[in-house]
Amino acid sequence: AKADGRNTLCFFDPEMQATVIERATLEAALRYAIEDQQFIVHYQPQIDKRSNIIGAELLLRWKHPERGMVRPDEFIPLAEETGLILKVGRWVLETACKQLKVWADQPYFQNLNLAVNVSQCQFREDDFTDQVRQILEETGAPPKRLKLELTESLLIDDIECSINKMHSLRALGVEFSLDDFGTGYSSLSYLTQLPLEQLKIDRSFISTLPDSHNDAVVVQTIITMAQSLKLSVIAEGVENEAQKQFLEQHGCTNYQGYLFSKPITVTEFDAFVATHIPL
Ligand code: C2E
Ligand code: CA
Ligand code: CA
Ligand code: CA
Repeated sequence: AKADGRNTLCFFDPEMQATVIERATLEAALRYAIEDQQFIVHYQPQIDKRSNIIGAELLLRWKHPERGMVRPDEFIPLAEETGLILKVGRWVLETACKQLKVWADQPYFQNLNLAVNVSQCQFREDDFTDQVRQILEETGAPPKRLKLELTESLLIDDIECSINKMHSLRALGVEFSLDDFGTGYSSLSYLTQLPLEQLKIDRSFISTLPDSHNDAVVVQTIITMAQSLKLSVIAEGVENEAQKQFLEQHGCTNYQGYLFSKPITVTEFDAFVATHIPL
């Protein structure tokens, strides 16, 4: 692509035009999907070092009538640009809280945490804390079971504002996990100011373990950092025993990944928990 576009008529570039049309089509489809309730969430189990299930991360899926299951990477960026993520994100939060309420008085389920991904525009909304408070009240979900996954890039945008907002949410009882940790511009000076409960090591560092010396060093450093800051640590994208063993040996206590389970429906997750109940 040419950096200086003055001599090119972008609109008549057939490739560009295709993207514009595709974008508009996708946006319209996305808008309709919300009305037509085509979104569902999958649950990916999270496991501790004793192989207990500690909860799940909610991962959004778009069940498109023709395209089939559309993965979030294909529609979340556009949903964010168009602001449609606000509605969808709110729905995901409600779904998590309703589920937490259902589990609240069931043995083996009542201690499970649900982690929800929060997008930048959602977190930046002035009344985000009020939204979360309202959803917790309406559903009757136990707030301490709700975990919000925030990314560094989302926080660093306006760090003072982020810290304040996190404190007001923390006051409701919810906890925070710092998602994709290690991929952003981590700075210890702000990390200590955030009311975090957990660091989540990004999959990109896990996938090359234990062979990549560099990634091994990054992972060890994150785990040590979490320990000194008294935070829990979870590794995402754990796919094989060798990765899990490395993590375990270096003090990582929580895991998520295909080694344990892919993201599954809530019915499948219920069964997954049931089969893991110690006899
Ligand atoms: P993420 O938060 O980093 O989520 C982890 C991604 O890794 C998920 O992809 C999950 O399916 C995938 N994954 C988990 N274990 C493994 C593994 O062992 N191997 C491999 N190769 N992949 C694994 P997914 O579901 O496609 O989601 C992609 C991204 O979309 C998420 O990345 C998150 O940033 C975003 N996302 C998903 N759901 C939501 C949502 O409800 N709201 C917002 N704002 N973003 C969401
Ligand atoms: Ca996440
Ligand atoms: Ca992640
Ligand atoms: Ca990731």
